Amino acid sequence: MPELPEVETIRRDLAPLLHGRRIERVRIHPGSERMAISHSPREMEHALAGRKIEDLGRHGKYLLIHLDDGQTWVVHLRMTGSLVHGDASMPAHRFERARIDLDDRCTVRFNDMRKFGTWHLVEDPREAMPQSGPDALSEAFSDAWLEARLKGRTAPIKALLLDQRVAAGVGNIYADEALWIARVHPGREGGSLSRAKVKALRAAVLETLHASLGARGSSFSDYRDGLGGEGLHHVQVHVFRREGQPCERCGTEIRKMRLAGRGTHYCPRCQRA
Ligand SMILES: [Zn+2]
Repeated sequence: MPELPEVETIRRDLAPLLHGRRIERVRIHPGSERMAISHSPREMEHALAGRKIEDLGRHGKYLLIHLDDGQTWVVHLRMTGSLVHGDASMPAHRFERARIDLDDRCTVRFNDMRKFGTWHLVEDPREAMPQSGPDALSEAFSDAWLEARLKGRTAPIKALLLDQRVAAGVGNIYADEALWIARVHPGREGGSLSRAKVKALRAAVLETLHASLGARGSSFSDYRDGLGGEGLHHVQVHVFRREGQPCERCGTEIRKMRLAGRGTHYCPRCQRA
């Protein structure tokens, strides 16, 4: 699933290509109508045509395409979505769901095998992401913010880290990685972390997100960057999908368990319950 670093990589790839471009035509293909949330597919195609792209932003896992009429086109890639830029003659991908023609003979294709991706066209991006807390890479995701969100909570810290109201953009890979870096057991009650541990955990979240960004996002699924590449597969994971392999710090076998409905990877020695 594309997470924050993958979406940010796509944003950085597409921003120089889309900045200032006018959208000539949008086609949402038959069978893909469900992706249009705020409008009907035909209304959305009509509303996007003729608009100029002013800027590309991101909040958590949402891509925010700011248009010249003040509206924001909010794209969420969900499980398998990707946005790929290329020239108009680029052949359609097997799972192409929509095609955006630009005024420079280039196109952006929205490909999505599982069809969970969504598009909103809204005045205020918050309308499209009502459950989102601060972006995990923003200053608003501070030690004080995280401490306040965890205070008194009995839910497992892993579940709280995955809660987008706590930090928008942190998903399964980065939650497991951050907990290993900070030496916190994923099942520990959120409210039981000391102030120092909360600080270490926030720093670990930033460390793992920045490491992945430096490697242009991870590539565990069908992730494609904004140019259609597979990413570099070079993200250094410490625990994610490493069950049965030795912990880099202590040599103990990494274990996997189910927590908050998600496969969770941890070192039983470095991350004691
Ligand atoms: Zn260990």
